[in-house]
Amino acid sequence: MTAAARTIVPVALPVALDERSYDIHIGPGLIGDAGALITAAVPGRPLVVLTDSSVAELHLSSLLDSLRAAGARVAEPIVVPAGEASKDMERLGTVLDALLARGIERRTVLVALGGGVVGDLGGFAAAIALRGIDFIQVPTTLLSQVDSSVGGKTGINSRHGKNLIGAFHQPRLVLADTDSLKTLPRREMLAGYAEVVKYGLIDRPDFFTWLEMHGPALVAGDDALLTEAIRVSCAAKADIVGKDEKEAGLRELLNLGHTFGHALEAEAGYGTALLHGESVAIGMVMAFDLSVRMGLCPAGDLDRVKAHLSAVGLPVSAAHLGGGTWTAEKLVSHMARDKKVKDGRVTFILARGIGKSFRCADVHLADVTSVMAGHL
Ligand code: NAD
Ligand code: MG
Repeated sequence: MTAAARTIVPVALPVALDERSYDIHIGPGLIGDAGALITAAVPGRPLVVLTDSSVAELHLSSLLDSLRAAGARVAEPIVVPAGEASKDMERLGTVLDALLARGIERRTVLVALGGGVVGDLGGFAAAIALRGIDFIQVPTTLLSQVDSSVGGKTGINSRHGKNLIGAFHQPRLVLADTDSLKTLPRREMLAGYAEVVKYGLIDRPDFFTWLEMHGPALVAGDDALLTEAIRVSCAAKADIVGKDEKEAGLRELLNLGHTFGHALEAEAGYGTALLHGESVAIGMVMAFDLSVRMGLCPAGDLDRVKAHLSAVGLPVSAAHLGGGTWTAEKLVSHMARDKKVKDGRVTFILARGIGKSFRCADVHLADVTSVMAGHL
């Protein structure tokens, strides 16, 4: 840790959900302090760390050193290959087998060190191993720090689609170490940042204004700015999820930009051509564009959204994708598959302005098509 980072004190955000509440610690140096924090949260409990091959190279030894220095009993770590492909049934099977081979008990706590893949896979393995053991998340991507650390969703993919198999399982503790982001590729950092911007656009206009001011320094790795942005993002998500834990309606606001985004991802083929956060950035621009065209949102707000995403280096149009072969009709057909179309109308998250998102059940598919065509 740098001397400058030392002066930034990590913050703790309590998340009260279900009958169970937990703390998200946010700031620099938390992996180094993990031993003290984890043994305080789950005293005397045996631990198993799950991570992926890339994160293992970068951050596993500091975590293990810290846990052992605090006197924790730590089993041999379980390492899965890095990447989305690890979120499948076969890998889940090997993780469960590895846990049982380590002689886990109901008291054992699984510590998931890595991005959303390790968090989702590890959380789900913890939810079902021995009918449920506790788990702790140490998210190491900006996306997992601002998104998957809150809400309790865990799971894996199926050949029928993403995240179709899983469980709600809340972590006992989350340690979001901003230092771990120093090794994160810039493109992954920006992809996570798109979800940060999303919280501002949903219902925190002042946060969006703050991001317009600080976004470029934040994505360059400024610890104080990252700590604040992660804190506000987790609080924003916790607020929405807390009012709607099992997805009755309000939680849909978190899908701002995601319906358009999923169509782009489906066409690009889930992989590295288009990261999830990049598709969300383009999708949020499309959602604001649609809102402007429907006369709901001032055009100036669409301009601000575009200008800010571009300023940090996120894509705001899909024109660079698909080599000119993509058509709006094809993209809309991906949406029709997971959206109920009623009399040519679909439900979308739209905005009356920055920080004024709402669910609109009355969107004409023809308008959606023409907005998409404008960004290809
Ligand atoms: P990821 O876990 O695949 O991480 C992205 C890449 O970065 C991987 O190659 C990983 O090895 C690498 N990496 C991770 N931390 C690093 C670090 N500190 N330094 C260098 N490299 C590092 O992907 P992600 O973007 O973190 O998460 C995406 C997954 O999260 C998806 O599967 C998505 O479905 C899931 N997700 C879940 C929730 C939820 O609520 N449970 C919410 C959002 C996303
Ligand atoms: Mg998302």
